[in-house]
Amino acid sequence: MTARTHDLTAISTLAIVFASTSISSITLPTVILAIFANLIGGIAPDIDQPTAPFWRNLPVGKYLGKIFDKLLGGHRFISHSIIGLALFGFLFHLLLVFLHPIIPHVNEGYVWWAFMIGMATHLVMDTLTKEGVPWLLPIPFKFGFPPIKAWRITTGKWVEIWAIFPLILIIDMWLALHYNNHIIYLLHNKVI
Ligand SMILES: [Zn+2]
Repeated sequence: MTARTHDLTAISTLAIVFASTSISSITLPTVILAIFANLIGGIAPDIDQPTAPFWRNLPVGKYLGKIFDKLLGGHRFISHSIIGLALFGFLFHLLLVFLHPIIPHVNEGYVWWAFMIGMATHLVMDTLTKEGVPWLLPIPFKFGFPPIKAWRITTGKWVEIWAIFPLILIIDMWLALHYNNHIIYLLHNKVI
């Protein structure tokens, strides 16, 4: 899947979880950081790809991308597995602990979950593509859905751009309209 589809899926899933979870209150800095963490989580597994947008946007990204590609075992390897999910979750937790003194009004737990939701949706969406995802590494088998490869999506091709992406947008719009009052209630009463 392209970075655009991953970001849209990540943020849509985060919005659904936020709207359906009964949280007592959440600070505005937490919301902003959670959205940022969620979008980063949504594209994080593709740091194993030197040509990923994540690297293209950094000045020395081309070289760093190649180093990470080797470190993570190549594209769709460790960072696209349950072990990778746990590893990235642990590293992101360490980063939040490190940043804690400068973000005192932020609930790091929510930010961490937002990152993990983004990363998990990435793996789920990549499972729908022809390449599949090695969920159970070190077992070197790439899982895909549907099981027949020919029925799966090719990354960046018309099905993704003209069917999957618009479909997620339509679902988002339907949810926004349907739960309009609930969303306004959450924004007014829960975000402080
Ligand atoms: Zn990927």
